[in-house]
Amino acid sequence: MAVEPVTDATAADLPALGIDIGGTKVAGGVVAPDGTVLATARRATPGSSVQETEDAIAAVVDVLARGHDGPLVGVGVGAAGWFDRTGDTVLFSPHLAWRHSALRKDLAARLQRPMWVGNDADAAAWAEYRYGAARGADLALMITLGTGIGGGIVMDGRLQRGSHGVAGEWGHMRVVPDGRLCACGNRGCWEQYASGTALGQTAREVARSSPAAAALLLERVDGDPDRLTGEHVATAAAEGDPLALELLAEVGAWLGQGIADLSAVLDPEVVVIGGGVSVLGEMVLGPARHRLERALPGRGFRPGPRVVAARLGAEAGIVGSADLVRRAVADGQG
Ligand SMILES: [Zn+2]
Repeated sequence: MAVEPVTDATAADLPALGIDIGGTKVAGGVVAPDGTVLATARRATPGSSVQETEDAIAAVVDVLARGHDGPLVGVGVGAAGWFDRTGDTVLFSPHLAWRHSALRKDLAARLQRPMWVGNDADAAAWAEYRYGAARGADLALMITLGTGIGGGIVMDGRLQRGSHGVAGEWGHMRVVPDGRLCACGNRGCWEQYASGTALGQTAREVARSSPAAAALLLERVDGDPDRLTGEHVATAAAEGDPLALELLAEVGAWLGQGIADLSAVLDPEVVVIGGGVSVLGEMVLGPARHRLERALPGRGFRPGPRVVAARLGAEAGIVGSADLVRRAVADGQG
């Protein structure tokens, strides 16, 4: 693949490619310096082998690069998982076969382009800081609510990845001693109480113990409580089902409690809530703010963070990883 060289001096003004690797698809986009997505492409994610996943990334890059007229800065790649501080190595990825894989080096050799590689919630945090709900904040936290909880920290204009690259994994803070079992092997993790998965689990528990109260929810699954998911609860809540609204408020309260605890440690200016569950908006964020107000340590004597919905939606990972590679090249680190 012939690639036009991009100098550090011009990188900041050029489009870059951003790639977001999910459990089911590799989505990519050409992203302008102002955050506009100029073109997109996607492939299914074959998660079982490292080779096949990298083939899918290369295919998306190829389609986007061929369709784009002009130079591109490089390729930013965000994926669920733990990366070392440099982004050179994927330590672990829950949906994919990467285990201590030299992803950045492999992809840079194959694509012959500058690369940024890192966690998808970090990329989303950066996108919200640069173009979205956390624009210009001195200390912004991103909390992504989906199957689990992801997180990212932007402080003093830099993405903070921690000493070993795995900062912001607060989905695994223990909030309930000996509570629900988590996929990480521990019990009582925050994401077992404040995520899409948690919403489904709480709904199943309530439907089993109080089927009369859960009658409207149970109608959606032919009376079988085991089939209830977070999505059923979300749909029911949007239609005004009082129990579903109560379950969302409970998830919101757990969210607010966790934000209070994070505020005690980090004192953020703004906390941005993104990920699939965030489309529920005020049904979750309202109760989260209410709990935060009551649970913030030293309430009444100190300001707390603003809690706001993410603005960039499903494209945050693409936009953020593209800008992170652009910034790395402009800084001479690409
Ligand atoms: Zn956990």
